[in-house]
Amino acid sequence: MAAHGTPVIDVRRVDDGFAADFDTGMVIIGAGACGMVAALAAHERDEAVLVVERDATPSGSTALSAGLIPAAGTRFQREAGIDDDAGIFAADIQRKAHDENDPALVASLARGAAPMIEWLADRYGLPFSLVDDFDYPGHSRRRMHGLPSRSGRELVDRLRTACENAGIDIITERRVTTLHTDASGRVAGVTMLRPDGGIERVGCEKLVLACNGFGGNAQMVREYLPDIADALYFGHTGNQGEAMLWGEALGARIRHPGAYQGHGNVAHPHGILITWAVIGEGGFQVDRTGRRFWNESQGYSEAARAVLARPGGEAFSIFDERIAGIASQFADFRDAQAQGAIREAATSEELADIIGVEREALVDCFAEIAQAREAGGRDAFGRDFAQTPPLMPPYRAVRVTGALFHTQGGLETDGHGRVMRRDGGFLPNLRAAGGAACGVSGAGDAGYLSGNGLLAATVLGRAAGAWETP
Ligand SMILES: Cc1cc2nc3c(=O)[nH]c(=O)nc-3n(C[C@H](O)[C@H](O)[C@H](O)COP(=O)(O)OP(=O)(O)OC[C@H]3O[C@@H](n4cnc5c(N)ncnc54)[C@H](O)[C@@H]3O)c2cc1C
Repeated sequence: MAAHGTPVIDVRRVDDGFAADFDTGMVIIGAGACGMVAALAAHERDEAVLVVERDATPSGSTALSAGLIPAAGTRFQREAGIDDDAGIFAADIQRKAHDENDPALVASLARGAAPMIEWLADRYGLPFSLVDDFDYPGHSRRRMHGLPSRSGRELVDRLRTACENAGIDIITERRVTTLHTDASGRVAGVTMLRPDGGIERVGCEKLVLACNGFGGNAQMVREYLPDIADALYFGHTGNQGEAMLWGEALGARIRHPGAYQGHGNVAHPHGILITWAVIGEGGFQVDRTGRRFWNESQGYSEAARAVLARPGGEAFSIFDERIAGIASQFADFRDAQAQGAIREAATSEELADIIGVEREALVDCFAEIAQAREAGGRDAFGRDFAQTPPLMPPYRAVRVTGALFHTQGGLETDGHGRVMRRDGGFLPNLRAAGGAACGVSGAGDAGYLSGNGLLAATVLGRAAGAWETP
């Protein structure tokens, strides 16, 4: 242990004295969506798997999410009459990320998503359905799939049950601190730290890093994501960046360390995620003065910086009863309502008074949007309102702030989770997936297409666990 009780995260050679307490075939570090999907895929190939999780109960950022996974060409889409395929999906991902992603990785993810959703539904009984009543920014088709509660907690719990039913071992309250490698660079095992300070060592033939990114590591966030370093971190605090630190020590290539997903619609001070549907369906954002400040249709990730740049680092999302009805399918939104975060008023003037913004300014916003509609749809910010119905009284408003949700850069992998070396080729018996690897969200915050997080966690997690090769 280092000073102040912080464990040393490192890579050591086995000739420094590694002796395993026990051995297994594959160790998977992290029991979020990525790790558990990887475990299911490995188990199907008769691999002896051990999932190691630092928390007492698997949760990760996955449990904090809405649990929505985009997939193109699923039977759920066909039943809803939606014509979609991997090529259209890949083009949407690349358009949002300004072609900053590796096209081969994007193609793998887009191709693998529909079979992955149907596999989890058919083999493990996860009752996915399509979100078919609103559009997500940047997706040219309705392709978000979620579980009944539309919450990531349900996703984690159902994956854990599937692992338990399959007899997969998940060992909790063990933080992996050290990877041990042999002279050829193969990982021979890991050291795990227990909460009581004791350590255990497990030997393995294969290692999968499914321990997400570095959003919970303030020092790394300040170094790589200075724009958002002072914002609230809304992801799992256990995501401390070990995958990137180990990878660097092993000679892995790091790609897009400055990429992240933010969110500009977190109820404040309640700290509850408000679905972007409230904006996408025709709502808008104003700052403390009651004035709009940007083209909200760009997306919720870049909304974090837009909102944080306003006075007090906050804004109000304005919508109506119809939209609240759509948003109510999300457990988080219902929670926000129950906690009184969503305010209601019969007129725009009354709404301005309730939330404490300038009456005239807010009334003008409604008028300007109505004018934009009459003139064909586009407003002064370039947002097109023609595709959504006008807001109707009674109106709703929620005070929001911007937050960092999760990092999107990291170890550079191929579509099978193989980790690339800085000097060419791949690390021998190591795979990385989900937030532990570089995703497909470009180089900054504006390249995140909704669902890129769980897309990479589940599709790449499945490929890594199956130890696919080209
Ligand atoms: C509020 C919120 C909403 C979101 N909504 C969506 C959404 O609807 N759709 C979407 O696609 N994405 C969404 N995301 C992003 C999504 O949650 C992540 O991309 C995804 O959960 C990553 O999965 P993962 O398995 O890689 O990481 P995690 O779920 O974070 O799991 C990693 C696990 O590794 C464990 N761990 C870390 N280090 C160690 C270690 N050294 N030893 C042992 N265990 C370790 C952690 O405790 C954790 O349990 C959202 C994120 C947030 C924060």
